Amino acid sequence: MGKVIFNGELVERENVKVDIEDRGYQFGDGIYEVIRVYNGELFTKKEHVQRLYESGEKIGIKIPYEKDVLCKKLEELVQENHLETGIIYLQISRGVSPRQHGYPTPEVEPTFVAYTKPMDRPEDLMKSGAKGLLVEDIRWLRCDIKSLNLLGNIMAKQKAAESGCFEAIQHRGETVTEGSSSNVFIVKDGILKTHPAVNLILNGITRQVILRICKHNQIPVKEESFTVDDIKTADEIFISSTTSEIMPIIQLDGSVIGNGEPGEITKKLQKLFVEEIQKECKNVVLQ
Ligand SMILES: *Cc1c(COP(=O)(O)O)cnc(C)c1O
Repeated sequence: MGKVIFNGELVERENVKVDIEDRGYQFGDGIYEVIRVYNGELFTKKEHVQRLYESGEKIGIKIPYEKDVLCKKLEELVQENHLETGIIYLQISRGVSPRQHGYPTPEVEPTFVAYTKPMDRPEDLMKSGAKGLLVEDIRWLRCDIKSLNLLGNIMAKQKAAESGCFEAIQHRGETVTEGSSSNVFIVKDGILKTHPAVNLILNGITRQVILRICKHNQIPVKEESFTVDDIKTADEIFISSTTSEIMPIIQLDGSVIGNGEPGEITKKLQKLFVEEIQKECKNVVLQ
């Protein structure tokens, strides 16, 4: 849709050409972010930009803009495209260089791309709940980096889709880690649990907002890993992500969770999450 940011410039999408020797294209050598836009306003913009810089630092890609300059550019992009409700996708690769595995020397300019896409909130599914499929986590050991390398994630999602499920819930052996593009929470006896933010998961911004909401509302939560058995016998399960917000999981591997409907704590968190959006994006009217 309309304009994109390409290496700092706001240009028409059809005028952008990516080089066949871009390292993002050849190696997945880069990082990305997805930011929600509600009624033209970016939600948790600073947190996403901060995480982009952190991912960059972890793999030695230097982002060639100051954080506030980048934020301004993203806001400009949203205005230029008249985006109401949707997302910004942005990625930055190590740049263009003759193909060889080692980082280019001397360093090259990274390739930066950002574009917008209209996307509604998945309201019906958030109300009814979705299905999950347990899948072995075959990914690498630096899942804390939001890297363009997503083969493990997309293979997991594909498995879920082939079983008619919305998300793959991954586990390393007995330990549940996260979804293919979401974090996983369970509720047992009124206490929430989610995997701690270590190298085995991506520390979702939505996850962080939920933890903050829990603290402010005295909802007991533990950043503690849990097992496949724990999730199968949980009272409630939900996943969290920028695009799906708080999505109840009402069936896991075909077995009903709780009474087969979104649980009370999940619904309460959904309501508090909407309030959080409204606090930050002042002109937003959501149900
Ligand atoms: C992006 C992502 C998430 C969710 O992060 P949000 O910032 O909440 O969108 C969780 N897991 C993985 C693997 C991801 O790539």
